Amino acid sequence: EKSLVWFRRDLRMYDHAALYHALKTSAAVFCVFVFDTDILQPLLNAGLSADRRVEFIHGSVIELDLELRKLGSGLLVRHGAAGEVIPALARQLGVNAVFSNHDYEPQARQRDADVAALLAADGRVWRSYKDQVIFERDEILTMAGQPFSVFTPYKNAWMKRLAAADGSSFLKPYQVEKYAARLTSPSSSPPETIPSLAALGFKKTNLRELEIAPGMSGAAALLEDFMERIGRYGQSRDFPAVKGPSYLSIHLRFGTISIRTLARAAYQTLHQGAAAGGAAVWLSELIWRDFYFMILHHHPHVALAAFKPGYDAIQWESGERARSLFQAWCDGHTGYPLVDAAMLQLNQSGYMHNRLRMVAASFLIKDLGIDWRWGERYFAERLNDFDLAANNGGWQWAASSGCDAQPYFRIFNPLTQSGKVDADGKFIRRYLPQLSALDSKHIHAPWLAPARELERAGIKLGQDYPLPLVQHDEARKATLLRYGVVKKMN
Ligand code: FAD
Repeated sequence: EKSLVWFRRDLRMYDHAALYHALKTSAAVFCVFVFDTDILQPLLNAGLSADRRVEFIHGSVIELDLELRKLGSGLLVRHGAAGEVIPALARQLGVNAVFSNHDYEPQARQRDADVAALLAADGRVWRSYKDQVIFERDEILTMAGQPFSVFTPYKNAWMKRLAAADGSSFLKPYQVEKYAARLTSPSSSPPETIPSLAALGFKKTNLRELEIAPGMSGAAALLEDFMERIGRYGQSRDFPAVKGPSYLSIHLRFGTISIRTLARAAYQTLHQGAAAGGAAVWLSELIWRDFYFMILHHHPHVALAAFKPGYDAIQWESGERARSLFQAWCDGHTGYPLVDAAMLQLNQSGYMHNRLRMVAASFLIKDLGIDWRWGERYFAERLNDFDLAANNGGWQWAASSGCDAQPYFRIFNPLTQSGKVDADGKFIRRYLPQLSALDSKHIHAPWLAPARELERAGIKLGQDYPLPLVQHDEARKATLLRYGVVKKMN
């Protein structure tokens, strides 16, 4: 039997479910990655030819190919519509089966179903495996056999299931190495080459300057660094000026590290004295990730609409006013320094600290009155770690329309948040150097600073830095009214 493994968001050659199963059951295994024009062409059509994610994938594919070559094979790399390329390649190579890992996004599910049908029509088999989460789909259910819609009981059930299996079977790495001799590649001459970024139509970004290293090696280095400070995660994770989180999200997104490696690292640290507390908080974040994949699987409508029926009745700002408020938010021109610094972090690096994602999302929805879907789309375009499940979950949490979201009347005060998470303004100063001379008391709300202080700091409001777009107290009242339509449902 010959097989083909189709790599997508799992760009590594160790602890890889599909690769392991293909190797275990086949005599010869080919590996392929497709730069999918169905995904890339819309970016190019929209003029988005500098995309850090494409560059990250490109770098990761090069590394994956090198690693596979060390094992005597290599990666076939194609550029085209994956839905057509894969069945055609399967035919050309004469494989019996195509192996891949489950994807939970609605469009990807459709694509995979189409590919499976084409393969079947050709007498070939499609096999797909759980790989990117610890527990998926129906693996964690309530006592009544229903999917959970509240996180804490889901997490408790998740932990219980893991503990019942002693952690071993669900966190165990797939031993790809055991069967590596079955990896093969077509004997072509000249040898296969990977198209350059330019040949794909994309430009280089500032990924390198940001020191975001792609590939399995980039992920391993981040994990090593994080494990030294995991014990402090609980205390440090809310302060954007501090190196608190792991920054592994882009690697989880593209599978340059496996979720099992990370969950195992956290799980094994749960009983290690000083580091245990931080590990427990971090493991909980990884469980949120599973939770949102599960929600998307059971409720694919969330990709377009509110999870809680009724929240779509909310009347958001519209017309020119909505467009200009939204643009100011995107550009980091709201006049609220923490929100603006957060948006500049996103625009300049493709990353935004988790606490700031909550603050910026809440501000757009509950201070500016803009439909959460606009913000969700902007994050989807910009985030290096964009993931439909987590991004949608985060936005619907902020909008109060999601499962286990914060209640609609809980409205972040952007100034209180700013004083709490960036007390001395270190993060704000990093992204808004024009405010750097302001004292820490006034940096959170420059418009409240006395004229003398603004003069001393050399700031002309409305010129060097915008006046606030809205007053939070008024915006808050308007939001409570706006959410009045859903009050009855709570
Ligand atoms: P760490 O703090 O080190 O966390 C480790 C990992 O846990 C993350 O890499 C991520 O995979 C997972 N994780 C952490 N928090 C969450 C969460 N709340 N929900 C789901 N998974 C989580 N995360 C994404 O991966 N992609 C997104 O598109 C995304 N969009 C978001 C949008 C909004 C409005 C909000 C509030 C959150 C969003 N998140 C998203 C979740 C979270 O902000 C990021 O996962 C985190 O900031 C990534 O940084 P890190 O790897 O350093 O995180």
